[in-house]
Amino acid sequence: MAFDLFSLDQLILVLGQITLLVLAGLLILALISAILIVFSIRTGRMVFPHLFLAGMALVEGVIRAFCGLLGVEDRELTEFVIRLHNRFNQGKFDRIPAKDKAIFLPQCLRSAKCPAHLTPEGLICQRCMLCDIGRSIDALEAQGYHVHIVPGSTFIKRLVKAEKPKAIIGVGCLMEVREGLMLADRLGLVSMGVITLKDGCIETLVNWTIINELAAGGANLEALPSVKAIE
Ligand code: SF4
Repeated sequence: MAFDLFSLDQLILVLGQITLLVLAGLLILALISAILIVFSIRTGRMVFPHLFLAGMALVEGVIRAFCGLLGVEDRELTEFVIRLHNRFNQGKFDRIPAKDKAIFLPQCLRSAKCPAHLTPEGLICQRCMLCDIGRSIDALEAQGYHVHIVPGSTFIKRLVKAEKPKAIIGVGCLMEVREGLMLADRLGLVSMGVITLKDGCIETLVNWTIINELAAGGANLEALPSVKAIE
C-alpha cells in the first residue's frame, strides 16, 4: 500500500512537471511568435511565418497579449494575420480555375441609391454605375468568377453549399474577413480576404486594384500596400 501511495505521489509529481514544461514551452513559443510578428509588421519582411502561424493556432490569446505589450494593436495584428493567410493560400488559389471560384462582396459597397433587389443569390447588380461594383463586375464575371453581392454570412454559407466553389475571395470589414477566412478553412475552401477601407453599413469603400489583382492571379502581395489597401 505504502508503495502504491509512493507511486501515486511520484506520478502526480511527474504529471505536474510535464504540465509545467508544456506551459513553459507554449509561453516561449508565444513570446518568440510575438517577437517575429512585431518584426515582420515593422519591417514588412515575414520571417519564419510557419512558426508564428503554428503559435497563432495554439496560443493566439497569449500572442495577442505579448504583441500588445510590444506595441502592436489588435487591429494591426488581425490585418497581419489576414495578410499571412492570403500569402499561404495564394499559390493554391491561383491554380484553381476562375469558374470554380466565387467572389463575395458586401452589400455595403453599393450606392445608397442602388436599384438592385435582393434575391436568393444575393443582390443582382443592375450596372447602374452608381458604385464601383457596376464598373468591375463584368470583367470579373468574364474571367469566369461567380460574383455575389451579399447582405451577410448566412448568404455566403448557403451559396457555398449550393455552388460548391473550390476557392473564394471574401471582401468585408476586418472582423467579417477574419471570421470568414476561419469559416472557409473549416469548410476546406481556399480563401483570400480583402478588408474594406472603412467600416459602416452604406457606401463603404474597397481597393478594387487588390480585388482585381487577386482575381487575375499571380498578384505580388508584397508589392500591394496591404490587403487593407491604400488609405
Ligand atoms: S452598380 Fe450595381 S451594385 Fe452598384 S449601385 Fe448600381 S446596381 Fe447597385
